[in-house]
Amino acid sequence: MNPLYIGALDIGGTKMAATVAGVQGPLARVTQPTAKTGSPRAVGEQAVALVQAACAQAGVEYRLIDTVGVSSCGPFAQIDGMLGLAAPNISGSFAGRADLPNDWGVIPLEQVLRERFGTVAIENDCVAALMAERTFGAVRDEPDCVYATWSTGIGFGLCVDGRLLHGKHGNAGHAGHMLMDIQSGALCGCGNRGDLEALTSGRSIGNDLSMSAPDLFAAARNGVPAAHDAAVQAARWFGRALYNIAVTLDTRRFVIGGSVWLHHGAWLAPIVRQEIDTRLPALTQGVSIVPAALGTLVADIGALCLTMPPDWLPKWRDAEPWHALAALAEASPPS
Ligand SMILES: [Zn+2]
Repeated sequence: MNPLYIGALDIGGTKMAATVAGVQGPLARVTQPTAKTGSPRAVGEQAVALVQAACAQAGVEYRLIDTVGVSSCGPFAQIDGMLGLAAPNISGSFAGRADLPNDWGVIPLEQVLRERFGTVAIENDCVAALMAERTFGAVRDEPDCVYATWSTGIGFGLCVDGRLLHGKHGNAGHAGHMLMDIQSGALCGCGNRGDLEALTSGRSIGNDLSMSAPDLFAAARNGVPAAHDAAVQAARWFGRALYNIAVTLDTRRFVIGGSVWLHHGAWLAPIVRQEIDTRLPALTQGVSIVPAALGTLVADIGALCLTMPPDWLPKWRDAEPWHALAALAEASPPS
C-alpha cells in the first residue's frame, strides 16, 4: 500500500535537512548543523530525530512515516552489509584536516535508519539531484544524461540508457576526483593534487589569489586580469571533464547545478562548450548543456523522488509543489 506521507533527508558535511511530504506537496522542512560528536551512530540518530521534528512542525503523526529517501554527501562504504558514510567532511579518520572533533570511521547510516523506517533509499547527493532533474526538471525523458554540480565541491550523477549508475559501493559519479594535471600543486580535500575538484571547485579556485570564490568570480566579471584568467582556466578544466565523460558514456545532455553555475553559468558556458565542441565530432555532436531547473533545493527534491509513490508524480508535475520547499527552507528556524 502506498504511504500517506514520506520523509526525505539531505545530509551534507555542514548541515542536515529533513522534509515531510504528502501527495499535495512538501509540508515541513527543518535543518540542523550535521552532528560531529558522540558515537558514529550520531548522524543517523540525528536524521531520525529530525524527521520526527519535521512531522511535529507539519502536524503529521510521526508513526505514519515508514519511508525515507536520503540524499547524502559521500563517499559511501559498506558496513555490516549496509550502506555507511565514509565522508571526509564528517568522519575524522577520513579527514585531511585536524579540525573535526571525532575519530569516526565509516558511519552506520543505513543501519540506524532501518531500525526505525521500513523503507530506506540512500543515494549520493548528485545521483539524487539527477533523479530530481529527470523526474521534475531539465532532463525529463532523457535517457542519456549527466548531472554535474560546480559548487564548493565537484560531483556528478550518471544516467546511461535510462539507468542511474551506482557502482560497487554506490560511488559512481565521483569524477570530481579524476586526475587532470598531476604537475599542479592544487590540493583536493581527498588528498589528490591536480584533480578536477582541486583545480576548479569553489573551495580551491581562489586560493592562488587569496580570494574567496565569490570574490574571484566577481573580479573576473569586472575584468581583473588575474581573476579572469583563473576563472577561464577553471572553466576549461571543467569543460574537459565534461568532454571526458561525454566520450566515455555517450552522453546527450548535461544538466549543471551548484552555486558557481547558478551564478556564473551564463558566461562560463561558452568556455565550457568550446572544450566539448572542438573535439571528436562523431562523439560530441549534439551534446547539450542546460542549467539545472530545480535550483538550490535539488538534493531535497531528489531525496523525495527516491521513494515517492508513482501515483503522486502526475499531481506533483501539475502543481509543482516543490516551489513550497524554498519558502519552507526560509521559514526553518535556525538551530
Ligand atoms: Zn579529489
